[in-house]
Amino acid sequence: LIRLAGVNKWYSQFHVLRDIDLDVQPGERIVVCGPSGSGKSTMIRCINGLEAYEQGLITVAGEPVAQDDDRIEAIRQRVGMVFQNFNLFPHLSILDNLTLGPIKLRRVPRAAAEARAMELLERVHIGHQARKFPNQLSGGQQQRVAIARALAMEPQVMLFDEPTSALDPEMVKEVLDVMIELAGTGMTMICVTHEMGFARAVADRVVFMADGAIAETGTPDSFFEAPRTERARQFIQQVI
Ligand code: ATP
Ligand code: MG
Repeated sequence: LIRLAGVNKWYSQFHVLRDIDLDVQPGERIVVCGPSGSGKSTMIRCINGLEAYEQGLITVAGEPVAQDDDRIEAIRQRVGMVFQNFNLFPHLSILDNLTLGPIKLRRVPRAAAEARAMELLERVHIGHQARKFPNQLSGGQQQRVAIARALAMEPQVMLFDEPTSALDPEMVKEVLDVMIELAGTGMTMICVTHEMGFARAVADRVVFMADGAIAETGTPDSFFEAPRTERARQFIQQVI
């Protein structure tokens, strides 16, 4: 469903992604981890065209991802993304946050968009807050809204960039639980996270990045119990 082949990217002189090869099958759940600055965010931002890359090819469902392309909007609609800082529209109600994209970009009629939005808000346990504004919700609630908003576009893949790292500890679980439920629906997911419990619960594969390259991949058990590289060993010691 997603393929990165020989992807390289530079920020002027700085080689931020090095020869990235990654194939993600439909329904697969990938956890991406690695030290700060290793290129995790850059890699997943390239997958939905938020960042350009200079070499190689990324495809989503066979369609090349190229920023300057007319098809980029179509690809972004297929690829939902959830950020560390929620990125909700502050001036819109929770309900309107969910319906804006479907109404504007997918031309879904308002009534249908609102019905679907309510369904998704129920699914992330926020249904009763639909008329509130983002700043009236806790961080964990806002992040669950952000997940529902991405799902409202009916994506084929969901990308998460450290969705729990800006949250107070007591709110982490409610967000991870929603992500685990989502995994249970068969959604294809690529999650940048250091939450090892989440990785063990849902990941088919862990991808470990260091210095812009994929240094190691494996099942959660093999990666966390028996990392093959010294970098990974050091990293795991720090996160547990
Ligand atoms: P973290 O765990 O801290 O989120 P990360 O693995 O997501 O780190 P990236 O955000 O992808 O890392 O950044 C990779 C490297 O690229 C870092 O060294 C960062 O300083 C650099 N970088 C990121 N964005 C830019 C930019 N817009 N211009 C120049 N350098 C950048
Ligand atoms: Mg990052």
